[in-house]
Amino acid sequence: MTSPPRRLSDHESPGTDGSEHLLNERNLRQYSASLHRCVERIAGTFAEVDRPHTGTSAAALGKRVSAIDLDEPVRDTTTALEELEEIYFRDAVYFHHPRYLSHLNCPVVIPAVAGEAILSAINSSLDTWDQSAGATLIEQRMIRWTADRIGLGDASDGVFTSGGTQSNLQALAIARDEAREAQSGTNHLGHTVPLSRLRVLTSECSHFSIAKSAALLGLDHDAVRSVPCDERRRMRVDALAEELARCSAEDAVVMAVVATAGTTDFGSIDSLHGIADLCAQYGVWLHVDAAYGCGLLVSSHRELLAGIERADSVTVDYHKSFFQPVSSSAILVRDTAHLRHITYHADYLNPADTDAERTPNQVDKSLQTTRRFDALKLWMTLRVLGPDALGGLFDEVLDRTSEARELLAADSRFELAAEPQLSTLVFRYVSTEEIDPELCDRMNRHARQALFDSGEAVVAGTTVNGRNHLKFTLLNPETSVNDISHVLDLLAEHAEEYLTGHVPQEFGHSRAS
Ligand SMILES: *Cc1c(COP(=O)(O)O)cnc(C)c1O
Repeated sequence: MTSPPRRLSDHESPGTDGSEHLLNERNLRQYSASLHRCVERIAGTFAEVDRPHTGTSAAALGKRVSAIDLDEPVRDTTTALEELEEIYFRDAVYFHHPRYLSHLNCPVVIPAVAGEAILSAINSSLDTWDQSAGATLIEQRMIRWTADRIGLGDASDGVFTSGGTQSNLQALAIARDEAREAQSGTNHLGHTVPLSRLRVLTSECSHFSIAKSAALLGLDHDAVRSVPCDERRRMRVDALAEELARCSAEDAVVMAVVATAGTTDFGSIDSLHGIADLCAQYGVWLHVDAAYGCGLLVSSHRELLAGIERADSVTVDYHKSFFQPVSSSAILVRDTAHLRHITYHADYLNPADTDAERTPNQVDKSLQTTRRFDALKLWMTLRVLGPDALGGLFDEVLDRTSEARELLAADSRFELAAEPQLSTLVFRYVSTEEIDPELCDRMNRHARQALFDSGEAVVAGTTVNGRNHLKFTLLNPETSVNDISHVLDLLAEHAEEYLTGHVPQEFGHSRAS
């Protein structure tokens, strides 16, 4: 069914042709008024938020979203904002709330939000110099600054990306092409090594984007070899050595070892020096996924990243531990020449004979073409706060995690799954008496969902050794130990409620017996 073409209805003045909405010198009053209204509305929302979420269901919200007729504009920002109240502001998940303890989302710093307003208004596109004069240089400085913090050396380079997933994909694409190029020289037929012989070694706790990237890059489904972890969820270096020897014996080509500096679930940091030694010995590309752990680059705990400077490529997510709005991420490489694997030319955009000095084109380094000026948010943050204040915020989060660990360890109702290393705590409610592990799984799952539905707090869940666990990801320096203690009590309440409702039916006897 196609709807008939729309006619102008009575309330639409004939002058409304859209041009008054263009951001240009004629419409500055509207630009200013419209943005101020947004800022006021958001400020009003933040002033009112008293829990991280309302617990509204997707079905309830879905009805309201579907009911809106997108072919009937409301015509002014104020009305559009009122409408948004019903479908977004009221029920959004607020990461700045101290009882939001779920995923790797941080509260954002105001200079970065100001940067966001600037970058979307001017709307530079970071593909070519002729679309981004100035912005390109600011991005390059941010890359240089990050590479220097890591210690990658003068030849290093990189580019902003949409997130850790894209950064990992790009790193592995480069590693793949480097490995095939290196191998083609030794192959007596002069053929490049077939994709089926390539392997990626990474720990069993690494991020799933590594496996996804390998699949997208045409590798076999079993190309990613999972290296076992020690009890602190760090890649076992001895097991990596065994796997490297095994691949070598099988005539497989290890195109990359991926170490993780801050695993998503446990915050564990692989032994970067031990892994780098093995990579050097075997001549294998070392990629360090520091999507989460990169906050340590500005923290007083920088030493936890020792060895990261030996990587061939590094993923950093400023939108995780640098208090930046989504998206803000980068891929760094030890040698700018490695980026050539990503360089393709188009006559209309970046012809091969471009003078790179006069017209630095970042598209030559990126998987994307049109690309946001996300680097401005980090720039504004560094210029207003500076790296030490930023690192101080992350330090605070790490301190709070240690305090929360003490709280959990002292509470017999809960069992800690691993010692925290960054800012996550993985645990499970075990009650104060012996209960069946399956029931314990369901009870923990229930507690998490019930808590979310109540809107009082948001916590994460994960599986450890096949068993359901709960997870706190702390990224908010304003979360207090009291907040954490309160959330533990709420979880215990929901879990006990579930237990009371389920034990008699499942075991045929009363729980009290
Ligand atoms: C979050 C995360 C990623 C993915 O990053 P996105 O920005 O969500 O795409 C990759 N690796 C690790 C270790 C992560 O924690």
